[in-house]
Amino acid sequence: MKAFNQLVVRTLPLVPRRLVRVFSARYVAGENLEDALAVVRRLNAEGCMATLDVLGEDVTRVEETERTVEEYRRALDTMASDGVDSNISVKLTALGLKIDPAECRRQFARILDAAEQHGTFVRIDMEDSSVTEETIRIYFEARGRTERVGLVLQAYMRRSAADTARAAAGSANVRVCKGIYVEPPEVAFQEREEIRRSYAAMVDTLLGAGCYVGIATHDEVLVERALATIARLKLPREAYEFQMLLGVTPALRRRLVAAGHRLRVYVPYGEAWYGYSMRRLKENPAIAGHIVKNFFMGGERV
Ligand SMILES: Cc1cc2nc3c(=O)[nH]c(=O)nc-3n(C[C@H](O)[C@H](O)[C@H](O)COP(=O)(O)OP(=O)(O)OC[C@H]3O[C@@H](n4cnc5c(N)ncnc54)[C@H](O)[C@@H]3O)c2cc1C
Repeated sequence: MKAFNQLVVRTLPLVPRRLVRVFSARYVAGENLEDALAVVRRLNAEGCMATLDVLGEDVTRVEETERTVEEYRRALDTMASDGVDSNISVKLTALGLKIDPAECRRQFARILDAAEQHGTFVRIDMEDSSVTEETIRIYFEARGRTERVGLVLQAYMRRSAADTARAAAGSANVRVCKGIYVEPPEVAFQEREEIRRSYAAMVDTLLGAGCYVGIATHDEVLVERALATIARLKLPREAYEFQMLLGVTPALRRRLVAAGHRLRVYVPYGEAWYGYSMRRLKENPAIAGHIVKNFFMGGERV
C-alpha cells in the first residue's frame, strides 16, 4: 500500500493542473467565497454545520498575511448576512507564525475582533510540531479575551496527554484529531493502535472534564468509542460535535446526523487550492492513496 501511495505522489507533478482540480474538487469547495458558501448552504440543508478554512499556509512574506485576514473578514461578514451555520478555522502559519510571531498575533487579533462582532467561533488549526507550543500559547492568550475560540490537539503527538491535561484544566474547547503532518517517532506515535488509544483517552479526559469537544475523525472505531463515552457520561448533544472533512465518508456523516448528533464539516476554499492539494498529498502519501482509490472505485460525492 505504501508503495502505491508513494507512486501516486511521485507522479503528481506530471498530472495537469486541470486534472488535479478534478481530484481535489471533492475536498476543496472552490476558489472563492461564493463557491464555499454554496457548499455550506447544501451542508446546512442536510443538517450539518460547517467551518470555513481560507486556504494558504506557511507564508514567506508578512504582506501575504494581509490578504488572508481580509478574506476571513469578508467571509465573516458574508456568513453573518447570509445567516449560514458556520464558524471559521484558521492556520497561524498563514498569518506569519513562522516568520514573525508578533505580527501573527496582531493579525490573529484582527480576525478574532471581526468574529466577535458577529458572535462567531474561531478554531485555531494545529500544524506541524515546530509550532505546537506557540500555537497553544496563542490559544490561551486569546482565551483570556473570549470564549469563542478553540484549540486543536493531535492524538499522534507524544506530548498530547500533557496538553490535554492543560486544556482540561483551562476548560478549553478542543478539536481532537489524529494529526496529518509527517513527524518523527521521537515526536509522534507511528502505530495505528497507539494513535487510536491516545485519541480515545484524550476524548475521554476532555469530555469527562466538561470541555466541549470536536470529535474530528472518519475512523469508525473511534466514532464508536466516543459514542460509548458520550452514552456513559449521559452527555446532552450540546456538549460535543463530530467533525469531518468535506468529501470524506459522507455515509458515516449522514448516519451520525440521522442519529441526532451535531456534525460539522470542514470546508476549505481559496485560490491556493493547487498548492494546498499538492502539499497535503506530498506530506501524507496515504491521502493520495485514498483519493485515487475513491476516484476510481467511485466513492460517494460530497
Ligand atoms: C474536521 C477536521 C479537522 C482537522 N484538523 C486538523 C488539524 O487542525 N491539524 C491536523 O494535523 N490534522 C487535522 N485533521 C486531519 C486529521 O488529523 C487526520 O489526518 C484525518 O482526519 C484522517 O484521520 P482519521 O481520524 O479520519 O482516520 P484514518 O484512519 O486516517 O481514516 C479513516 C478512514 O477515513 C477515510 N479517510 C480519511 N481521510 C481521508 C481523506 N483525506 N480522503 C479520503 N478518505 C479519507 C478513509 O476511508 C479511512 O480509512 C482534521 C480532520 C478533520 C476531520
